[in-house]
Amino acid sequence: MVQALSLTKRFGNLAALDSVSLDVAPGEVVCIIGPSGSGKSTLLRCINQLERIDGGAIWVDGELAGFRRTSDRLIELTDKEIARQRLASGMVFQRFNLFGHMTALQNVIEGPVTVLKQPRAAAIAEAERLLARVGLAEKHGAYPSELSGGQQQRVAIARALAMKPRLMLFDEPTSALDPELVGEVLAVMRDLAKSGMTMIVVTHELGFAREVADRVVFMDQGRLIEQGPPAQVLSAPEHPRTRDFIAAVL
Ligand code: ATP
Ligand code: MG
Repeated sequence: MVQALSLTKRFGNLAALDSVSLDVAPGEVVCIIGPSGSGKSTLLRCINQLERIDGGAIWVDGELAGFRRTSDRLIELTDKEIARQRLASGMVFQRFNLFGHMTALQNVIEGPVTVLKQPRAAAIAEAERLLARVGLAEKHGAYPSELSGGQQQRVAIARALAMKPRLMLFDEPTSALDPELVGEVLAVMRDLAKSGMTMIVVTHELGFAREVADRVVFMDQGRLIEQGPPAQVLSAPEHPRTRDFIAAVL
């Protein structure tokens, strides 16, 4: 579903990503862990084309990100074409980023109606189904300010799913939440994983990674240091830097 090959991303002299390669199979759940500044968010942002890469290549669901192919060459996509490609992935951020002046339901139907041009009635029916799926059937008329952080984050997940992404990217979706609200968001993500969604999740929730991830990736200083099944990377890491990180987080 995702193939990233030798990705490099620089900010000035800093290599935020230094030749990172990552393959994610359809239906796979990959958790990315690593210290602050290691390039986790940058990797997600490159996969979803919020950032331009300086080197390497990314394919999402078989499409080369940022380019289209003619019979004899590659042509750079326009911003509009990139916007279309970006619809392949849904992204959920640490901060909920809901539209404050819209109800939960309006937040969820906004993209389907304005971007996908879905008929409003169909978008509403689908949004109600999605809000029920994240446990918020009763809250469709609530504004973000009337919802807890965990509820807002679940609306944000429903909103991303309403765009029918083939891939979901999560960037520390629970780290801005009060501890008692973390579980309800992780439960929604666990259900989504069980439903077969391909997911890349940046998280410090090692319990979630251990239980839900098919694979855990450890990054440090812009590099992919180690990856493998959760039992291996979290319990018997090979690299000393992975070991130090896990010891510090636990
Ligand atoms: P955290 O756990 O704190 O979220 P991270 O692993 O997500 O960290 P990134 O946000 O990917 O780290 O950042 C990787 C490096 O790139 C950091 O050194 C960061 O300061 C730098 N960086 C990220 N975005 C920018 C930017 N827009 N301009 C300049 N430097 C940036
Ligand atoms: Mg980050």
